[in-house]
Amino acid sequence: MKKYHLLLGVVVLGLAAALFWPRAQEAKKEEDSLPWFKGNTHTHTLWSDGNDFPDMVVDWYKDKGYDFLALSDHNILSRGEKWMKSASIKNRQKGDGPSALEKYRKRFGEDWVDIRGEGSAEEIRLKPLDELRSEFEEEGRFILIEAEEITDRFERHQVHINALNLEEVIPPQKGTSVVDTMRNNLRKVREQAERLGKPIIAHLNHPNFHFSFTAEQLAEVVEEQFFEVYNGHPGINHLGDETHPGDEQLWDMANAIRVGKLKSAPLYGMATDDSHEYHGGNVSPGRGWIMVRAERLDADLLMRALERGDFYGSSGVTLVDVSFEEDIIALEIEGQPGVSYKTQFIGTRKGEDSAVGEEFDISESLQPVYRLRGDELYVRARVTSSRDHPNPSYAGQKEQAWTQPVGWKKLIGEGQ
Ligand SMILES: [Zn+2]
Ligand SMILES: [Zn+2]
Repeated sequence: MKKYHLLLGVVVLGLAAALFWPRAQEAKKEEDSLPWFKGNTHTHTLWSDGNDFPDMVVDWYKDKGYDFLALSDHNILSRGEKWMKSASIKNRQKGDGPSALEKYRKRFGEDWVDIRGEGSAEEIRLKPLDELRSEFEEEGRFILIEAEEITDRFERHQVHINALNLEEVIPPQKGTSVVDTMRNNLRKVREQAERLGKPIIAHLNHPNFHFSFTAEQLAEVVEEQFFEVYNGHPGINHLGDETHPGDEQLWDMANAIRVGKLKSAPLYGMATDDSHEYHGGNVSPGRGWIMVRAERLDADLLMRALERGDFYGSSGVTLVDVSFEEDIIALEIEGQPGVSYKTQFIGTRKGEDSAVGEEFDISESLQPVYRLRGDELYVRARVTSSRDHPNPSYAGQKEQAWTQPVGWKKLIGEGQ
């Protein structure tokens, strides 16, 4: 009798597996086959303190094969009419060579450039986002995402937050502490997202700029889901110094507190340019970007993918696939001839005394895999190429990629 039941059980299970397994496989395949989109979410133009025309900047990124770009000027959206003195534009350029205006005219032609006044009163009109969109956007090929770098401060602490996919400018909200300042700005972002019924992403920028944030502060503001683990501006203290941890260490320190103590989701890591200079200066474009896996090239869908954590940051390494299933993280690196790759699986284990940001494992495979032991708060992967970064923001920089922390959801009651 028992045997019979067992046999029946096996048959039923087998049938169920036969029926449902292919479907589960199909669903997984669908997700894997979603395309990756490359974009930069932190970019400055003449609309604030960048030194080139917005159309020249957009043209640069589109030409380099980016799929999306967010122009994120300080406390302003690229809307309405804005004229700028030719002399001030010239002043922002360092060194010799053709002026920004000369290059602008050469690229787009005399008719495209709006000029008024003469001599020292000469002014050029900056193109607003809607005009940039009709010039550059192409379905499935390139889109612009409206953005602002909400640029706030508390005493000497710089609180800069990029809001992506917003529609109304958010003035800096101020606050009574670093944490309060951050919270007040994030609240405004959330309010707008709710009112407009669309996803608006907020990422905290360059936490080590003026050493503005501690890991504890980054951890405490749990409503912040994103921060810049890499920002290409050479002046943001990416590596820290003798008394301050680098951006990546801050990430682990904050995430260990969030998942371990606060039972909250960890921060996701963005990589961005924060480009300001387009005429040979050192705050140049093309150093850091994100790769986002979305259904198609659409601002809302890209934002949803970021919220899901379906993206990675890069300063040169490309991943064909990143997956986390059944407690296994698996990467597939797009190898380049003559280049080797080192993947570190980095995380923090449960328990007060655990090392923060420990290297759990290291691999030199193009398909590195890490199986969770079960005592991790979270694990993430960092891939470092043997190739030097072609335009480094710090000495000795190699090309890298950073995937998002995983393995934490069940610890905060969100399932896998
Ligand atoms: Zn900033
Ligand atoms: Zn910036």
